[in-house]
Amino acid sequence: MAVPPATSLHSNHPVVAMVGGGQLARMTHQSAIALGQSLRVLAADATDPAAQVSPDVVIGSHTDLDALRRVAAGADALTFDHEHVPTELLQKLVAEGVNVAPPPEALVHAQDKLVMRRRLDALGARVPRYAAVESREDVDEFARQVDGPIVVKAARGGYDGRGVQMAADEAHAREIAGQYLDSGVPVLVEERVAMRRELAALVARSPFGQGAAWPVVETVQRDGICVQVIAPAPSLSEDAAAAAQQLALRLAAELGVVGVLAVEFFETADGELLVNELAMRPHNSGHWTMDGSRTSQFEQHLRAVLDYPLGDTDAIAPVTVMANVLGAAETPAMTLDERLHHLFARMPDARVHLYGKEERPGRKIGHINFLGADLASLRERGERAAHWLSHGEWTDGWDPHT
Ligand code: ADP
Repeated sequence: MAVPPATSLHSNHPVVAMVGGGQLARMTHQSAIALGQSLRVLAADATDPAAQVSPDVVIGSHTDLDALRRVAAGADALTFDHEHVPTELLQKLVAEGVNVAPPPEALVHAQDKLVMRRRLDALGARVPRYAAVESREDVDEFARQVDGPIVVKAARGGYDGRGVQMAADEAHAREIAGQYLDSGVPVLVEERVAMRRELAALVARSPFGQGAAWPVVETVQRDGICVQVIAPAPSLSEDAAAAAQQLALRLAAELGVVGVLAVEFFETADGELLVNELAMRPHNSGHWTMDGSRTSQFEQHLRAVLDYPLGDTDAIAPVTVMANVLGAAETPAMTLDERLHHLFARMPDARVHLYGKEERPGRKIGHINFLGADLASLRERGERAAHWLSHGEWTDGWDPHT
């Protein structure tokens, strides 16, 4: 099928189309504006975070080929705010001449944990011990080999820890894996890594082959959700940081990534780095770059998919702390806007990014960046500010009226 010419208002400028209308698309749109562009978005709903702000929105599903064709029509590149588009649909688009970035053969490594583990193994990257599960017996076989706690993972479809379950014991692992198998979901088991902490290396790669790496960060997780990111990762040796960056750049090149690639690591008790996950899009571990780096991950993603020269990834401050704002179990009576007002009154240096999302328990509704030099105080302020925006209460009992 011939791709019709761009119908956008911006026909003199490149058009990047993004599948998914979430906060990542919303923040990519912000960067597009600065480059004289406007991001075209495929959103499920007109109230989605990016659909609220982009004038160029296609409403439709990421599993509907016609909707994908409509958003891709005339665009210079088609890229993603999530990894849930089926490979077969992307291959059809490629065959029709769409510039899919990252291409489907690369993206599959961010979509399928089994495909990813196998490929990383083959490329010599260290990963946790794992096994594909085809029957309940495979779980027993693996349990005998690792002789320790086991994690059961759906190979596809998970995010923010959904689809990842820590098994209490072998019988439990069998049971969870069995449930996935019975519902036809491909599943794998992994050793539960005794880790010191989690790290992430964020890089970008352009079709020309240019690569750029940001400082390696620590991602602090609570209940399987990232709550804070510290850039750079505290007390990580220069050698370990450089090795993580080099591995991420090598993976980006070997897998043929175009755009931003996030490589999530576990740092084991003896300092070894094991790759946990890959994401081929702007990533939560890179939200700090909006204020803390010379080039934000959102601008870099656009530059990469359009094959522009990549931007400088240096940090602006010695330390940046990013704190996620998660919806509270009970939405506070005070409006979010009023909470924001109070936050600014107390912390004028807070760099706030809100996603225009309705507050729901545990949902990522925004993030706050703090730049400075004193790690402990930045972390404390990040935690306090995020808690305030979520709950409408100050963790130290602060009251502006007393
Ligand atoms: P998702 O793709 O849903 O984000 P991940 O595979 O990244 O899922 O896992 C989510 C979180 O679960 C990780 O950040 C980590 O805290 C924990 N986790 C996952 N796999 C393991 C493992 N093998 N050992 C220990 N913890 C794990």
